[in-house]
This record gives sequence, structure tokens and C-alpha cells, in this order.
Amino acid sequence: MHLEQLFPQLFILLLTSKLLTQLYLNKRQIFFVKAHSKNVPPEFEDQVTLEQHQKAASYTCSKTRFNSVNLLFEAIVLWLWITGGFLNQVDQWVRSYSEHYLVHGLLLFAVIGLISLLINLPFQLYSTFVIEEKFGFNKMNAKIFITDLLKQIVLSAALLLPLLAGLLWVMQQLGENWWIWGWTLFVLFQFLILLLYPNFIAPLFNQFSALEDGELKKAISQLLKKVEFKASGLFVMDASIRSSHGNAYFTGMGKTKRIVFFDTLIKKLSTHQVIAVLAHELGHFKHKHILKSLILSLIFSLIAFAILGQLYQNTAFFSGHGIASQSTAMALLLFSWLAPLYTFFLTPLFSFLSRKNEFEADEFAAKHSNAQDLIDALICLYKENASTLTPDQLYTRFYHSHPPAKERIEFLKGINSLEP
Ligand SMILES: [Zn+2]
Repeated sequence: MHLEQLFPQLFILLLTSKLLTQLYLNKRQIFFVKAHSKNVPPEFEDQVTLEQHQKAASYTCSKTRFNSVNLLFEAIVLWLWITGGFLNQVDQWVRSYSEHYLVHGLLLFAVIGLISLLINLPFQLYSTFVIEEKFGFNKMNAKIFITDLLKQIVLSAALLLPLLAGLLWVMQQLGENWWIWGWTLFVLFQFLILLLYPNFIAPLFNQFSALEDGELKKAISQLLKKVEFKASGLFVMDASIRSSHGNAYFTGMGKTKRIVFFDTLIKKLSTHQVIAVLAHELGHFKHKHILKSLILSLIFSLIAFAILGQLYQNTAFFSGHGIASQSTAMALLLFSWLAPLYTFFLTPLFSFLSRKNEFEADEFAAKHSNAQDLIDALICLYKENASTLTPDQLYTRFYHSHPPAKERIEFLKGINSLEP
């Protein structure tokens, strides 16, 4: 079979198999969570009330149902773009303004980006102001929502358009092996974002204040010393202006590593529990999980660029996806839309690796803080975030980056019982 016939058939096959798999997994998840919502699982009876358990079940089902509608909509939109020929029409329309590869390319991405933003907006609004609102998590008002949106548009334009211009130039000017240079540019760009993020990007959206002196700071300093971790600062972020979900994370590289706590986390957990959560995050760092995933993503993006290096001048790649005029910008755009279809069934592999890392980080936390504190913190966060304690097995295996509560807690209890 010729590639020109193979591409459209593969597109439909992958689009439908991905969608059906996702809808099936969602259906399973809703069914399982509902079926287990009548009673609190015995392991959690002491700490979780029936009301909290049922809130988590109903929140999970609402989110999952909404996700199914969203997935169906996204698949139809992608089908219309490609098979329906809308992408080609927009491309021809942009072409009528300029045939110059840079002008055409930047304009094409800007127009498609804005259209995508607009058609996804109702979903974002519904998720924030209906679902999150209903369960008491949304703290955003219309003003924050709109200013966030505008900032995101300006920021994406300021960062992505130069990257895009660079890539298009490389593709156009550097000959057959452009993809090695394209990848290098892409990697440098990612490092630039990592460097800019803590000081220039994150502060556009949130306020960061140094963690106040006191019991918590003292305990953190002790932990950092114990595990020999040098942080250039401890910060509290005002996450509560948008959502009441809690979290903690690291940003920066090398000597500029910062530890950031969501204010919502500090409010909800005791000092001991915050320390256990931080020890878990430090576990990720000490086991080099962050470095490993960075290397993995570099390898994957190199493979992606190598494949794009083969496809970008392949006539069938364009005509097979309904595109009349070949261009470097269209090759990039098509590739970025199609790659997720071709790699979707690798999701369980990445979820598995991530869950393995979570166990390692938990083990580290148990060793350097206290397993029981981490268990208490986890249960508290599950309750506060209304995360379900009873997810469907297959759904978890496919998607979840974190092991289910029950497995994690059993694992931590196992470590705890080994300690003298
Ligand atoms: Zn983790």
C-alpha cells in the first residue's frame, strides 16, 4: 500500500482506538468508584468520614464524565481539521497573505493557536467555574481568569514565536541534517525556560514570599542538612488565589534550586507532615528522578526530530493528511498533532516508571523523616483534594503517575514495621 493511502487510514485507526480506549477506561473508573462509594474502605475508616469518601467519589465521577465529553469533542475537532480539510483551508488562507516561509509559518501557528484556544475555552470555563466551583476548590474569579488567559497568550507568543522562527529557519536553511540542529535549538530553549521559570515566569502568575522563620523553617533546615541538600531558598506560593488543592515542588537547576510550598499545603498539614512531604520530594531529587526524566525526554525528542527529518519533505505525509501545499511550518504542525496519536499506547509504560519512582521517593521519605507522618499527610491530602481512595485498577495502571492510596500506605507501613 502506498503511504498516501496508509496515512489517512492510520490516522482514523489511531484516532478511534485512542478515543475508544480513553472512553472505556473512564467508564470503568466511574463504575468502580461508584460501586465503592457506599462504605469507606476499612483501611481508612479511622481517618476518613463517609461524607468525605462520597464527596471524593462524586468529584472523581464528575471530572471523569466531563473528561469523556472533552475527549470526544477533541477527537471530532482533530478529525475535522485533518479529514474534514479545515487545516488545509486555513493554510491556503494564510498563504494568500504571504508565501514567505517565515511569515507564512508564524502566521499559520498564530491563527491555529488562537482558534484552538477559543474552541477549548468553554471547556476550561466549565471545568473551573462549574465543576471545581461545585466542590469548593475554585478560588478564581472572572478577573483572575481573564488576566491569566491574557498573560498566557502574551507569554506563549513571546517565547514560542522566536523558537518557531528559529526552527523554521533551521529547517529551511540547514539542509538534510537540519533535524540535529533543530533538536539542539529545542533543547537549548528548554534549558532557557528552566532558567527563566523561577525568577521571570512563575512570578507573573503568583506571589512568592520567603518562608517565615519559625518551627517549620527550623525543621526544614534540619532535614536539608541531614540529607545534604543545598537549596537557594524556601518559598511559599499563594496558590490559594486560584485553587485550594495543595502541593510542593522544586524549581531551578544546580545551585539555584528553590523549594516552593503551596500556601494551601502549609495551612492543611502539621509541621511533621510537611517535613515528610518535603522528604518525599527530596527523595525524587536524591534518586535523580528529575535528571533521569530529563534525559529520557531529550532522547524522545531526538527520536521525534529524526522522524520529522524524514517526513518533512515526504509528499505523502502532507497529501495523506489532506494538505495541498507542502511547507516546513505545516510539517511541524502536523507532526505535533499526530505524534500524540502514535505514542498514546506508551502511556502505561510512562505511568509505570513514574509509579516506581514514587515508591522510591516514599522509601527515602520513610528513612529520613517518618513513614507514619507521610501516611497521615497523604490521607489528609487525599481528603482535602477529594481524590478517590478506590480507583479502578486498569485505569490506574494506564494513567496514574502515583500509586493508589492503598498501595502506597501499605508500602509505607511495611517499611515502618521494619524499623527498630
Ligand atoms: Zn512524588
